[in-house]
Amino acid sequence: MVRAAPAQRFDLAVIGAGIVGLAAALAAARRGLRVIVIDRDARANGASVRNFGFVTVSGQARDVMWRRARRSREVWREIATAAGIPILQSGQWMLARRPEAVGVLEAFMATEMAEGCRLLSPGEARRRCPWLASPSLLAVMESSVELRVESREAIPLLAAWLERAHGVEFLRNATATAVEPPLVRTSRGAVHAERIAVCPGDDFSALYAERLAIFGLTRCKLQMLRLADPGFRLPGAMMSDLSLARYHGYADLEAAAALKARLAHEQPRQLEQGVHLIVVQSADGSLVVGDSHAYGATPDPFSLQAIDALILEEFRAALGVEPPAVLERWVGTYASASDRPVLIDAPEPAVRIAIVTSGSGASTGFAIGEELIASFIDTGAVAA
Ligand SMILES: Cc1cc2nc3c(=O)[nH]c(=O)nc-3n(C[C@H](O)[C@H](O)[C@H](O)COP(=O)(O)OP(=O)(O)OC[C@H]3O[C@@H](n4cnc5c(N)ncnc54)[C@H](O)[C@@H]3O)c2cc1C
Repeated sequence: MVRAAPAQRFDLAVIGAGIVGLAAALAAARRGLRVIVIDRDARANGASVRNFGFVTVSGQARDVMWRRARRSREVWREIATAAGIPILQSGQWMLARRPEAVGVLEAFMATEMAEGCRLLSPGEARRRCPWLASPSLLAVMESSVELRVESREAIPLLAAWLERAHGVEFLRNATATAVEPPLVRTSRGAVHAERIAVCPGDDFSALYAERLAIFGLTRCKLQMLRLADPGFRLPGAMMSDLSLARYHGYADLEAAAALKARLAHEQPRQLEQGVHLIVVQSADGSLVVGDSHAYGATPDPFSLQAIDALILEEFRAALGVEPPAVLERWVGTYASASDRPVLIDAPEPAVRIAIVTSGSGASTGFAIGEELIASFIDTGAVAA
């Protein structure tokens, strides 16, 4: 039976129960607001549960995104115990196997973003990880600032904790069909709220579609794999040369030009499919490995074996280890824009729209939620 929308009045209605919507709900609840979160699905099913759960700080674009990631990492740490969300991994190992990649790491180490990072020689890295067998390993940048959660468990745990500890209400199986402040019309009745936060992930053809059309948003599709327990433990999330050419914190450094030129020559098929390497480990030892990037208004939902093969080829080259059996394959999509990492818009005084347009919501979502609520309450101004 469909339950009608709650008749009470709320200080804030959040549309979207992904990480961005939940982050906005947390920031609002911490300021004492009465909050309701509305989602069309019965349980989280979007990008927020399909990702690596990798909270990346090093490698985020300099300044604003890097600061957002540091703040979000802090919030993950603050709430993890209370919300019962295990932090499964800390830190990151960036494996460099080309001199040009070492050049990028050295340039990165000279920036303020290198806080918590240090370079390891191949010998030191192998002493710590005897299984690491890539013959071409030249250096590792170890960062202590990253962390990882199991998103498919963490997002439901976060929602349950918001409900239990902060009194946030949830209206699920309810599609928001119109925003008419102070009302949100949903497929299960109207919700009354003084402020409305629209956090729709990559659905930008429904609410405020005309307004969002001017931002030139598109979608990005990623292929992901889960591999069997390799029988060893990772010292942190692992990445490789291809990631140094992709993540803005590294790729925007001058030193990255030489690496990009070499990769264009040596790994054109990976670059064509937007493939780079992230390997993280789950509590049962299995590895989540990815990913690829394909852009389009409606990317197809199919996982291509040829793209998986490119991801696994990079796994083999970077770790020097034969990839274990594939246990799961899935695709995910996120919103993308070529000119901004995050879109925060105020279409009307009582409404904010927040969309992460750079595939970094697990890393930056909590900071964005705080900014969104601050823009309602503190200044009325909206961050760019
Ligand atoms: C495969 C993959 C790997 C990634 N890896 C990482 C990573 O390791 N680290 C990182 O930082 N980021 C990563 N990202 C990006 C990150 O997952 C996203 O930036 C983030 O999850 C976006 O969160 P969201 O809340 O905006 O969107 P979503 O999680 O998609 O949530 C949006 C919610 O809004 C709801 N909704 C939309 N419209 C309506 C409506 N009209 N009415 C009701 N409900 C509505 C949807 O049902 C959905 O639940 C990855 C993304 C993917 C796909």
